[in-house]
Amino acid sequence: MERVVYSDNAATTPISKNVYNAMLPYLTGGYGNPSSLYKLGREEKKAVEQARSYVADYLNCDPNEIIFTSGGSEADNLAIKGLMFSGKLPKNKRHIITSTIEHHAVLYTCQFMERIGYDVTYVNVDEQGHIKLDELEQAITEDTALVSIMAANNEIGTIQPLKEIAEICHRKGTLFHTDAVQAVGHMKIDVKEMGIDMLSMSGHKLHGPKGVGALYCRKGIVLEPLIHGGGQERGKRSGTENVAGIVGLGEAVRYANEKMDEYIPYVTSLRDRLIEGVLKIPYTRLTGDPVNRLPGTASFVIECIEGESLILRLDLAGIATSTGSACSTGSLDPSHVLMAIGLPHEIAHGSLRVTLGEQNTVEDVDYLIEKINYVVKTLRDMSPVWDEKMSGEPMLKLFDK
Ligand SMILES: *Cc1c(COP(=O)(O)O)cnc(C)c1O
Repeated sequence: MERVVYSDNAATTPISKNVYNAMLPYLTGGYGNPSSLYKLGREEKKAVEQARSYVADYLNCDPNEIIFTSGGSEADNLAIKGLMFSGKLPKNKRHIITSTIEHHAVLYTCQFMERIGYDVTYVNVDEQGHIKLDELEQAITEDTALVSIMAANNEIGTIQPLKEIAEICHRKGTLFHTDAVQAVGHMKIDVKEMGIDMLSMSGHKLHGPKGVGALYCRKGIVLEPLIHGGGQERGKRSGTENVAGIVGLGEAVRYANEKMDEYIPYVTSLRDRLIEGVLKIPYTRLTGDPVNRLPGTASFVIECIEGESLILRLDLAGIATSTGSACSTGSLDPSHVLMAIGLPHEIAHGSLRVTLGEQNTVEDVDYLIEKINYVVKTLRDMSPVWDEKMSGEPMLKLFDK
């Protein structure tokens, strides 16, 4: 029987059985509109509010501080544009700060804001992908309205010091938004304790459905909606609710919250076994913070191979992984994250991201190690760059181990 190992959980996760079961009645039976007054509608409304309270429990906030959206991208857009367009900020507050390693949902939103006349500063990261806190602090001026820094990076897994970032923001009088799409369900988050003002999440990164997400927006912060209409989500996001999707997101968050103490050590042990195995390949390095990283994320650069070739050959062995970022597949530019942590182009091209989930097993990991070893060896055997490297006459200037 052919083996299939899905290990691209940072791109999307399989819907879990419990999520599927929770959603099913709202796809087959429940067809009332949550805004209507009859019984079917009331039941749908109740299901949406239950999901809202699961999300609020996980984040330690009030259910009224949760706005359901069409996903992580919309939540990021709503946080940034919604705040800047609110008309409630002092006139001078037209400056946004973000980082060089954000997801495109934040990065391209900020570039758009620049095009229409706002100022944006992109703070750099160190070689493990941590935000440079002193640089952040210096960048904040009295004109800064918002700092948007991701909770954990989708390519290299590095977790940011959220509490410290929030402290700096508040000390200097600005708000803090975090894109926590990779973090929700994979680490503990307490928005009150950490001082987070706004937070984005997405269903399909934690075994929920695609096309649904949420923005936590602290009470008192005024946002202009991106979508005007019937006034759903307390006027913050119009449009008839995606009831089944919201129920699925709620169940995914509830389940992750309940299982967190089992899930994190289990997936971390799989990840560390994989990292140990892959780093035995010569001229291979881990990217990101070796300790403070997402439990399932193992990311590498492997010299003298092309990431794309590696991914395609692993695919032939039934293995799903990725290189660079999934969203830019098809482009030949190395990922902006690997550039930002200071890797030279030729090294960044040989990147591999393996992201494990609770559905993976020790056998999966051993199969991954075996196949990655085999494919890297095969590719290097065909590579003139590898030949040169081994003969001690470097053709390209490459890093030494
Ligand atoms: C996947 C992802 C997004 C986008 O979420 P969607 O629900 O797919 O729109 C945003 N930010 C990060 C960090 C992500 O990993």
